[in-house]
Amino acid sequence: QEDVFKKLVSHCKEYGFVFPSSDIYDGLGAVYDYGQMGVELKNNIKQYWWQSMVLLHENIVGIDSAIFMHPTIWKASGHVDAFNDPLIDNRDSKKRYRADVLIEDQIAKYDEKINKEVAKAAKRFGEAFDEQQFRTTNPRVLEHQAKRDALHERFAAAMNANDLNELRQIIIDEEIVCPISGTKNWTEVRQFNLMFTTEMGSTADGAMKVYLRPETAQGIFVNYLNVQKTGRMKIPFGIAQIGKAFRNEIVARQFIFRMREFEQMEMQFFVKPGTELEWFKTWKETRLKWHKALGFGDDHYRFHDHEKLAHYANAATDIEFLMPFGFKEVEGIHSRTNFDLSQHEKFSGKSIKYFDPEINESYTPYVIETSIGVDRMFLSVMSAAYTEETLENGESRVVLKLPAALAPVKLAVMPLVKKDGLPEKAREIINDLKFHFNCQYDEKDSIGKRYRRQDAIGTPYCITIDHQTLEDNCVTLRNRDTMQQERVAIADLNNIIADKVSI
Ligand code: ATP
Repeated sequence: QEDVFKKLVSHCKEYGFVFPSSDIYDGLGAVYDYGQMGVELKNNIKQYWWQSMVLLHENIVGIDSAIFMHPTIWKASGHVDAFNDPLIDNRDSKKRYRADVLIEDQIAKYDEKINKEVAKAAKRFGEAFDEQQFRTTNPRVLEHQAKRDALHERFAAAMNANDLNELRQIIIDEEIVCPISGTKNWTEVRQFNLMFTTEMGSTADGAMKVYLRPETAQGIFVNYLNVQKTGRMKIPFGIAQIGKAFRNEIVARQFIFRMREFEQMEMQFFVKPGTELEWFKTWKETRLKWHKALGFGDDHYRFHDHEKLAHYANAATDIEFLMPFGFKEVEGIHSRTNFDLSQHEKFSGKSIKYFDPEINESYTPYVIETSIGVDRMFLSVMSAAYTEETLENGESRVVLKLPAALAPVKLAVMPLVKKDGLPEKAREIINDLKFHFNCQYDEKDSIGKRYRRQDAIGTPYCITIDHQTLEDNCVTLRNRDTMQQERVAIADLNNIIADKVSI
């Protein structure tokens, strides 16, 4: 699986999807650029989300708020005081780690040990193997399980109490070693704030310290009353936004899964107090359906309900996607209570209550949020679409089985040869179709090579223009997934393709 992931990363670079940022300067940690194919796929993902949120829901509207915000907003939201990761350094390697991640990895090691025992026994006993019974009676499994549970409980308690000394003690007691130096020479655990800061303006008293927003949500909270009043919105209603967010992540690994500059698609849904858990359930289901509609297979998704809730939430779940490195969070759905709005009311001193004409009362709405990372969604789509196939003739091909609606290029137009008026005919077809969807012209190399290139970027359809075309105005249409070819009239192309590639 690690192998597949490595191949995917190089495929992303080779075909213009994702480049390391500042590539000719050897990159910048956990920052990436999207190339000519990547930007199309990313835009299509955003459009797929935006349309399902804003166009399909009468009571959801969009905004685009600024990245810079008044610094007090981040005090009110709790980010200045609590948006921290606990860090620990290894004295020998001088490498810095997240203490909580080191411990989570240790818990995963116990799980691995248990799974190994189970797999070994399953092999030995074959058909007769009763996994449930084995897990509950085998002494070695029980020993690992007991250690795992004790560690998990101790870790959860330390995190809940924000007890940094205890986190360090766990690392020492578990004899966790630094993956680089292999030693147990650990420093104290310190809190490290994830927000980037910069300075704004320059006055006699100095510049004002401002933050790069670590989430888009606060731009929606501080605008909710502006939108409600000017849009004459009635509760329940939602505000959607797509925009950049920044976090100084320490464990920056796994390609675009965890970045320092990334993009979020968030929707905050404002509801009457007391109805929030019903809405939480509704949005959980709605969002899972949205993911599943892409057709990668229902087994690629699962919910992970949170046991430990953030201070502002009264329910939270993640939608996890099966990435090449296991099930990972792609989207968070949180019932955020009235925490954010109440805090902004307190810190700004302005009343931002909603007047409900139906009950003739004012109240602070409760909020359900759905928050998804564009880049993580991108990674999940790419990893599910990436396929290596062996063809009947023994050749192999790499094909991106992207849903047609998300594919960067919808149609490749290929003259069979570079002469006899075929290129001109191909241009004529593109000039007509380019107003409807993204087309690419390709006349270089053999047709077989050209098909492979289009397969590698996920183009759902290719057409070939041959000498016959000049006589009958028909082309050969080739389907990416089935590789079937059929003869169709040029006049029918728009209808055939537009129908399949529209979002
Ligand atoms: P994680 O636990 O993985 O750090 P989180 O729970 O902090 O994520 P949220 O604050 O709920 O994430 O953010 C909502 C969504 O934003 C996540 O589900 C994820 O898709 C995306 N996201 C968060 N941090 C990053 C990041 N560093 N890089 C890319 N996407 C991110």
